[in-house]
Amino acid sequence: MMTIRYFIFVLLISVVPFRAMAQTTKSAVDLIIKGGTVVTMDNSRRVIDNGGVAVKNGRVVAVGPTAEIERAYTAREVIDTKGKVVIPGLINGHTHVPMTLFRGIADDLDLQEWLTKYIFPAEAKNVSEDFVRVGTRLGLAEMIRSGTTTYCDMYYFEDAIAEETRKAGMRGVLGETFIDFPAPDNKTEAAMLDYTERFLKKWQGDPLIHAAPAPHSIYTCSQKTLQDAAALARKYHAPILIHLSEMKKENDDSLKDHGMSPTQYLDKIGVLGPDVVGAHCIFVDAADQKTLAEKHVGCVHNPSSNMMIASGVSPVPDMRAAGIAVGLGTDGPAGSNNDLDIMEEIDLAAKLAKISRLSPLALNAMAVVQMATIDGARALHMEKEIGSLEKGKKADVILLSLDVPNAVPMYDPYVQIAYASKGSDVKTVVVGGKVVMRDRKLLTIDEKAAIVKAREYKKSIAASLGME
Ligand SMILES: [Zn+2]
Repeated sequence: MMTIRYFIFVLLISVVPFRAMAQTTKSAVDLIIKGGTVVTMDNSRRVIDNGGVAVKNGRVVAVGPTAEIERAYTAREVIDTKGKVVIPGLINGHTHVPMTLFRGIADDLDLQEWLTKYIFPAEAKNVSEDFVRVGTRLGLAEMIRSGTTTYCDMYYFEDAIAEETRKAGMRGVLGETFIDFPAPDNKTEAAMLDYTERFLKKWQGDPLIHAAPAPHSIYTCSQKTLQDAAALARKYHAPILIHLSEMKKENDDSLKDHGMSPTQYLDKIGVLGPDVVGAHCIFVDAADQKTLAEKHVGCVHNPSSNMMIASGVSPVPDMRAAGIAVGLGTDGPAGSNNDLDIMEEIDLAAKLAKISRLSPLALNAMAVVQMATIDGARALHMEKEIGSLEKGKKADVILLSLDVPNAVPMYDPYVQIAYASKGSDVKTVVVGGKVVMRDRKLLTIDEKAAIVKAREYKKSIAASLGME
């Protein structure tokens, strides 16, 4: 009897304080997002009803049922997401963000006419560092409002774009343009190389900004320019951003001039590799797709732009089947889309594939949501850092409202995100653990000021083109 009593006594003194202790040793984190439907986009495509995400030092430390997260963690900031879908921040893989200020100057035109009569003259007369900053602020506000947390850009004065992006707390893969004519910022290739090297050095190791060289395309850059830009990227372990097979003329000219497709030409001159991000990839045949897959090139599909300029239809289902990482982009925004809403591209990517193949099975809801999240991350070669809600990844998270008529009822979250939800349903946006929009209120950008400045620019741009 004594032994049993003693045993119970020992059990009580050891277990009781232990239990009490367990309740008081929750780990402290910075942020807990709890209560919503968490669509993780992890390998098993786990969806957690009443799920939670714990965030510390800008990274996800745990994802699971809310009860589990609450048992293990305590946070100074808690966001209740009941009635919302919680998904990884969306990735816009191709933009020219300051072109927001050219939105609507000329549309419904042939590409050549649009470029030579409007865009090139408008850029030559108007693009300055201030122009780029104002256009970027406006574009960032638009992107955050529609759920983008990472974007990949190609323009001029890209260092100014990087500074604005950093201030707004957004994540950017930002490419300084190389082109074989005097650009608004750099007039010679030597100046482009010098500017870009300084740009790459300045942002090394930054948690949000990934600086990159962006040789515009094979039809605007010589072999030397392409190779110099690639060599510079590789010296600094930066990605290489390029327009790849974006129009039929580019493909036809490449066959004529080099006896091979743009993809084969870039491979032959040593540019293709696991650091290249190719925008568009429309005219890529089976051999090109094999090369792109083998070289681990990321591709970015831009359905709105391809339809608006009538460039053609990228063979997205085939590229995916070939093992290529295909992300999504808006392109533009001027003349080739006119907005930066990546939610629209998710919807259109599926529908463009379906109509062009006359098959509703061509690309499904889960596939296009993947393209805007984890596959978009793979296309930018950043899948270890972003693209899904998993322990260790950067805490880029968006909350989509389900309390709107267009999102009720919900049977399947992928179908809802792809075909029913709108950019305007994005309520709250978190980038690297920091809230940049809360309940539709932007916290890092003075949106009113950006709108006023953009309207002022309209007057001088219109005047410069003799439109007023
Ligand atoms: Zn483009």
